[in-house]
Amino acid sequence: MKIFKTVLALKEHLKNLNGNIGFVPTMGSLHKGHISLLKRSDQENPTTVLSIYLNVTQFNNQADFDNYPTSIERDLETAKKNNVDIVFRPTFEDMYPENYSLKIIEESLSTQLCGAYRPAHFSGVLTVVLKLLNIIKPHKMYLGEKDYQQYLLIKKMISAFFIDTEVISCPTIRSTNGLAISSRNKKLSLNGLKTAENIFRILKYAKSEDEAKKEFNRLGIEIEYVQKLQDRLFAAVHLEKIRLIDNVKSSF
Ligand code: AMP
Repeated sequence: MKIFKTVLALKEHLKNLNGNIGFVPTMGSLHKGHISLLKRSDQENPTTVLSIYLNVTQFNNQADFDNYPTSIERDLETAKKNNVDIVFRPTFEDMYPENYSLKIIEESLSTQLCGAYRPAHFSGVLTVVLKLLNIIKPHKMYLGEKDYQQYLLIKKMISAFFIDTEVISCPTIRSTNGLAISSRNKKLSLNGLKTAENIFRILKYAKSEDEAKKEFNRLGIEIEYVQKLQDRLFAAVHLEKIRLIDNVKSSF
């Protein structure tokens, strides 16, 4: 496994590589959800590139950025165990030589759901993903359904800018009790984790947005939004000051 910290060194290495590249972008603190994407890429491509980059421009809240869990040594072990060929872990200066004075703005879907509560979040996501795609030029990129709005927006950007990368969505990996695995779950107490297990059940069985909201209220889970969009039911909630999101195929 090769590790690159600069755009220049990674591009130089990729120049001499043959065959398809599968790409898995992450912010690190790797868990079973990320591993499922790495496994899929490993099955489908001779080379898998994993990026580990905590992208500051997609955080609209400094405290959230400061508190985001990191575990680089463990992440590198996980990457090695899962047959990752290349890890890219750049610095802000490398990724943003223009100091984020240029950005991608999507003006429709990105203003809804999470975008309505996290202004500028999706601009940060789309900008960093566009940069990563231009550096790595992967044939396939693997994204989790856990962040379904992000998946839709990245697909839209790839289509709008005629980028030659196929986007593959992968199912949300859940703990045995249904909780979508997330780096943020580590910040919950045991009690918080138990309560969080209800999120999936509520979304899965609710027959309306209102019914889901009532159930969240009954359990004392603070709602940011519960909303059906297309055929999916999305929610963002706050538990012990941690923001959790999930979405399922809607049952109504
Ligand atoms: P993140 O490191 O949170 O930015 O996530 C990197 C990628 O992993 C994104 O495509 C996420 O949708 C995906 N991901 C995160 N959690 C899960 C999960 N529980 N199941 C499947 N994919 C996930």
